[in-house]
Amino acid sequence: AQRVVIIGAGIVGTNIADELVSRGWTDITVVEQGPLYMPGGSTSHAPGLVFQTTPSKTMTNFARYTIQKLQSIEKDGQNCFNQVGGLEVATTPARLEDLKRKHGYTSSWGIEAHLVSAEECLKLYPHLNKDVVLGGLHIPSDGLALAARATQLLIERTREAGVKYLESTPVTGIDRANGRVTGVTIPNGSIPADIVISCAGFWGVELGAMVGLSIPLLPLAHQYAKTTPVPSLVGRDLNNQINGKNAELPILRHQDQDLYYREHGDQYGIGYYGHRPMPVKASSLGLTSKNVDEKNMPSRLEFTAEDFDPAWKETQRLLPMLRDTEIADGFNGIFSFTPDGGPIVGQAPNLDGFWVAEAVWVTHSAGVARAVAEVLTTGRSQIDISECELSRFEEVQLSQSYIEETSSQNFVEIYDILHPSQPRESPRQLRTSPFYAREKELGAYFLELGGWERPFWYEANKELLNYLPPKWKPVERDAWSAQFYSPIVAAEAWKTRNAVAMFDMTSFHRFEVSGPGALDLLQRLSTADVNTNPGTITYALLLNDHGGIRSDIFISRLEENLFQIGANTATDLAYLTREARHQSQKKFVQVREITGSTCCIGLWGPRARDVINDITADDFSNKGLPYLGVKQALINGIPVTAFRKSYVGELGWEIQTTAEYGQRLWDTIFRAGKIHGLIAAGRGAFNALRLEKGYRIYGTDMNTEHNPYEAGVASAIRVSKWEDYVGKAALERISSKQKPTRRLRCLTVNDGRSMALGKEPVFHNGKAVGYVTSAAFGFTVRKPIAYAWLPGSLDEGAAVEIEYFGRRVKATVAADPLYDPDNKRLLA
Ligand code: FAD
Repeated sequence: AQRVVIIGAGIVGTNIADELVSRGWTDITVVEQGPLYMPGGSTSHAPGLVFQTTPSKTMTNFARYTIQKLQSIEKDGQNCFNQVGGLEVATTPARLEDLKRKHGYTSSWGIEAHLVSAEECLKLYPHLNKDVVLGGLHIPSDGLALAARATQLLIERTREAGVKYLESTPVTGIDRANGRVTGVTIPNGSIPADIVISCAGFWGVELGAMVGLSIPLLPLAHQYAKTTPVPSLVGRDLNNQINGKNAELPILRHQDQDLYYREHGDQYGIGYYGHRPMPVKASSLGLTSKNVDEKNMPSRLEFTAEDFDPAWKETQRLLPMLRDTEIADGFNGIFSFTPDGGPIVGQAPNLDGFWVAEAVWVTHSAGVARAVAEVLTTGRSQIDISECELSRFEEVQLSQSYIEETSSQNFVEIYDILHPSQPRESPRQLRTSPFYAREKELGAYFLELGGWERPFWYEANKELLNYLPPKWKPVERDAWSAQFYSPIVAAEAWKTRNAVAMFDMTSFHRFEVSGPGALDLLQRLSTADVNTNPGTITYALLLNDHGGIRSDIFISRLEENLFQIGANTATDLAYLTREARHQSQKKFVQVREITGSTCCIGLWGPRARDVINDITADDFSNKGLPYLGVKQALINGIPVTAFRKSYVGELGWEIQTTAEYGQRLWDTIFRAGKIHGLIAAGRGAFNALRLEKGYRIYGTDMNTEHNPYEAGVASAIRVSKWEDYVGKAALERISSKQKPTRRLRCLTVNDGRSMALGKEPVFHNGKAVGYVTSAAFGFTVRKPIAYAWLPGSLDEGAAVEIEYFGRRVKATVAADPLYDPDNKRLLA
C-alpha cells in the first residue's frame, strides 16, 4: 500500500483524505501546522457561497460534486450544505445580456437555471431595491457550504477509518531521493511517505519552494464584513441555527459592483472584490499560533475600512434595509489567486510522488479532491483536469513578476464581463517570434497565448476587401462576436484558398526526442506506429490508461534516433519528459523543448509550390516531398526543415529554421511570393480554415473525457501495431462496443450568418443535448460552423438549435469535414 502524507487540513486536504480512504487507501497521515479543528487557513473563515456556474465545464462539474458531497456529510440531523439557491442580479443592460450567455453555460453543463425578470428577482429576494435591479439569473441548486463544519466532520470520519492527524505540526522540508519523494520533515523528525500531497492553500508557494517548484499562486486579501443585526429581522428563528444553516434567502451576487451577500441569521455578510489588490506573502504570516480562534488566524488580516467605503454605499443602494445597520465586524481574509484563475493540481514535474492541490475554492474542493484521488488510484480523473494541471504554465509564466501581475489582474477582473477572446493588456511581448518586426510593419493585430504574441490578422490586407468576389464577402456580425475580429479575416481566408499565404506557426510547441530509446518511448506512449522510415510524419494520439485522449501530436522521424514532436501544451512536455526520465534508466532517451530556439512558417495555398520553387533548388514536388513527408532543404541559403502538412487543408509546408535565420526566411518567402499573390495571414483565417477541414484542437474540442472514436480521430490509431502502448487495452474494449453514445459533430448554421463562439448549448426537440466546442465562420462554405458534442443518435441532417444570448439559432448536423474530404488539395 502507498504511504501518503497530506499537508494541510483545510477543506481540500481533508476531502482528499476522505476520497482516498473511500477508495481503500489507508496509510494516510495529515500534517497540519495549526490546531484542529480550526487551523486558521482560508477554510476557517470562508463564508461558503457556492455559485456553480462558470464558463468552464470542469469547474462547474467540480462544484456540482462538491454540493452533492456536502449534502451527504451529516451529523445530528444536519448536513453541510444549505441549498438556498443562488441569484445573480443585473443592474446594467450589459450584465443583463451577459446573464443570458451565462444561462447558456448552465444548459451546456446540465445545471438548471432560470433567467428571471426584475419582479421575479424581488419575489425571490424581497429586500432588493426595485429601482436598481433589471433582472437576474436564478440557480436553485446553488447555496451555502458549511466549510468549517464539513472539515471537522471529515476529520472525524477519516480518523475513524484510520487516517492519522498531526496538529500544530508544521512541515519544514520535503525528503527526496533519486527524483522521488520519500517523506516530510517535521520539527521532531520525519514521516516516511511514497506520496506527499501539498494542500497548503496559500502557503503552497512556501511548500513548492522546498522542492524548487514555482507554484503560480498569489495570496491576496479579500474583504468580508458582517453587519449589525437588521432591526426588522431580529428575533427570527434562523438566528438559532448553526452558521451556514442560518440563511434562507438565495446567496446573492451583484457583479456590476463586485459584491456578494449572504444572510447570517439577522445579520448580513458582504463580500467585496472592488478594492485594490492586496497581495500578501504567506511566509510573513508566520506559523499558526496555538490559540487560533474566530478572530485570530493567520489568514485573517485587519479590516481596512476605507477600502470598503464604496461597497458599503453600494450595498445600501441595493439593499435599502441595510441602511439601518452598521459594519459590526470586518476583516481582510486571505486566499489564493492564479494567473489564469484556475486551481493548481497535479504532480510536480521535477519530483515524482509530490502532488499539489492548491488555489482551490470551497466551491470546487470535493470535486478537486475526488479528481486527485482518482488519478492516484486509477490513473485518471473522470472529469478532465487539463485546465487545472500544475504543469500547464509556460516557463515565462512562472516568474514572480508574472504571477503577481496576472493574479492581481484576475482579482480585479473577477466579476467583469469578459469576452472569450479578450487578451490581457499586460504583461505583453513576453515571447515574440523572429518575424515579429515584419508582422508589426504589416499592421498585425496580436492576441496572446502562453506569453506568445500571435497575429490574428494584418491591417495591410485591408485593401483586399475591395477585390473580394461577392461570394467571399464577410457577413455582418452581432456586436459580441464582432469583438476581436476583423472582416479582413475573410480576405486572408480567400487568399489562402485561392492563391497562397504565410502563417506564423512559431508558437506551436515543438519538442525534440532523441537517443537510443526515442523510438521505444514514442511507440509506448502513442497510438501510432512510428517505426517508419526517416522522413515521415505521423499523426498520433497520447491516451491515458482508460483510452481518454491526453493529447494529439505529430511525430516526425528525422533520423533513426531523432524525432520531432508537434505538441499542444506545456503539460505534454512535462508528461513526455517524466516518461523519458523513467525509461532512461533502461534505455536512454531525451526530450528537449525547441519551440523558442526555432521558428516556423506555414506556407499554404494552391500556389505554394510556385513560391517555393523560386527560392530553393531542392525538390518540393510530390516525388521530392510527398504529403506527410519531412526533409532538410536550403531556401535562399537558409537551412530549413520542411514538413509537408497543413492545418488549413491546402498544399504546402511548415518551414522551420532556427531563430537566427527567421527574419531572413520571412523576407525571402514574402518577396518571392509577391508575384504569386502571397500575403501574410493570421489566426483568424487559420481557425476558420482548419474548422472547415475538421481539424480538432486539443483542449477545446476534445480532452481526457473523450475517446478517439467519439472525437472522430480514430484515424490516428494504428490497428495493426503489435507493440503495447498506453491505452491500447482500453481501446480494444471500447472499439468492440457499438455506436458511441456521444460524438463530436460538425454543425452548420442554417441562416448563414448567426455566429456561435464556443460553449453554447445545443438543443434537439427543445431539450439541451450538448454543447459547442469550436466555432467560426466558414468562408469557403459560406456558413458559420460549430463543432459540438452531441448524442451519438443524432445523424447527419438532424435539425438542432444553438442557443446564443438566449436566442435559438437553427443548425444542421453536417458531413465532417466540410471541405475537401478526399484531401485532393493537400495531395496536389
Ligand atoms: P486552507 O483552508 O488555507 O488550508 C491549508 C492548510 O494548510 C492550513 O490549515 C494551513 O495551516 C496548512 N499548512 C500550510 N502550510 C503548512 C505547513 N508547512 N505544514 C503544515 N500545514 C500547513 N470560497 C468559496 O468557494 N466560496 C466563498 O464564498 C468563499 N469566500 C471567501 C471569503 C474570504 C474572505 C476568503 C479569505 C476566502 C473565501 N473563499 C471562498 C476561498 C476559500 O476559503 C479557499 O479557497 C479555501 O478555503 C481553500 O481551502 P484549502 O484547504 O486549500 O486551504
